[in-house]
Amino acid sequence: MGIEIGLYVHIPFCRSKCAYCDFASVAGREHLWRPYLDVLLAEIAAIPPLRPITLYVGGGTPTLWPAEYLTAVIEAVRSAGLPAGAEATVEANPGTVDEAKLAALRRAGYNRISLGVQSTQEANLRLLGRIHSYAEAGDAVRWARAAGFDNLSIDLISGLPGQTVAEWQTDLARALELESEHLSAYGLSLEEGTPLAAAVARGALPEPDADIWADMYLSTEEILAAAGYRHYEISNWASAPDALPPDPGAARQATRAPRDWVRRSGPAARLLTCGHNLIYWRNEPYLGLGSGAHSSLQGKRFARLADPAAYVAARPADRVSFMEEIGPSLEMAETAILGLRLVAGLERDRFRHRFGPDPVEWFREPVSWAQGHGLLEYDDYAVYLTQRGRLLSNEVFQRLLPTTEP
Ligand code: SF4
Repeated sequence: MGIEIGLYVHIPFCRSKCAYCDFASVAGREHLWRPYLDVLLAEIAAIPPLRPITLYVGGGTPTLWPAEYLTAVIEAVRSAGLPAGAEATVEANPGTVDEAKLAALRRAGYNRISLGVQSTQEANLRLLGRIHSYAEAGDAVRWARAAGFDNLSIDLISGLPGQTVAEWQTDLARALELESEHLSAYGLSLEEGTPLAAAVARGALPEPDADIWADMYLSTEEILAAAGYRHYEISNWASAPDALPPDPGAARQATRAPRDWVRRSGPAARLLTCGHNLIYWRNEPYLGLGSGAHSSLQGKRFARLADPAAYVAARPADRVSFMEEIGPSLEMAETAILGLRLVAGLERDRFRHRFGPDPVEWFREPVSWAQGHGLLEYDDYAVYLTQRGRLLSNEVFQRLLPTTEP
């Protein structure tokens, strides 16, 4: 039996580059689409004996591609062992879909769609350099529903330059009208080299304010909880499936078996969290195919060439641009950091089973520091961030990293 993996497939092409984006993506380059697909299909065919249990097709803008290309991808992944009914997500940009394309993607077997809405206000969509309006996002949701997608996620970005808490609350209120099963709300990160960062640096736009962003985050927790969403990761909320009990303690327990959730399928056990991302947050094995994709497998982490032209031209063995061994103490620290991102926390039992020591003992100093500052708590079952800890998570995470690898 091969190792179970989450499979990520990267489609690096976009219509134009957004003002905040430093992802591995390029505008245009249509001439590369077909050769890039051929490379991907060959890589997917080589996946076994690894066994994909989730598929996530991200980008870039996967839906810039014709539906036939994305159909070829999922068919190849199924041939490589993705079980029927397993979670298969495709990212979609509202400016690149229509009813027919979404229907074709659903027919092909994608059963989850992640829609990059980002903002519901035209001025902020223009600021971000998005190619779509909010009205188009609404159309995309309607078409996705008509196509039969019953697991839909929406991405929003908070903390934009000049954005007020009231504006953000309007974004949330409008996003709630779209009735998605899942919501990701990320804080804007100003990345060096992007037009947005340059505009802030030269004073053309105000610097995002950390205190205002903290207020946005707290109001996100409040508004989404009131609307019935379950906060399950620092930046992610899922509509509460029937399987989850209402009290927070029991809810923490219920989010503890992602692999079982991933394996289950069908209406009796609908997966409203993102099963694929839960694999990342559990620090379990995943394989990324395509330019710029990252993998973590069998004690190694590796990344592939970021430039799609170089990627297509390279021999298979030369497509990996970076590889490092993950020593035991780094793996333990990363497992703790990723696990603490989950509201359910880092499961002590699971950690002991995987590594031997108990995490509260192993990380005694940082745990005690974070607990003393009101950032972290633990019980018999898990170590978890408090609300204040979720706001200041990097303060905790950096203290968990080993200073030297033995
Ligand atoms: S659509 Fe996504 S990947 Fe493409 S440029 Fe915009 S933010 Fe970047």
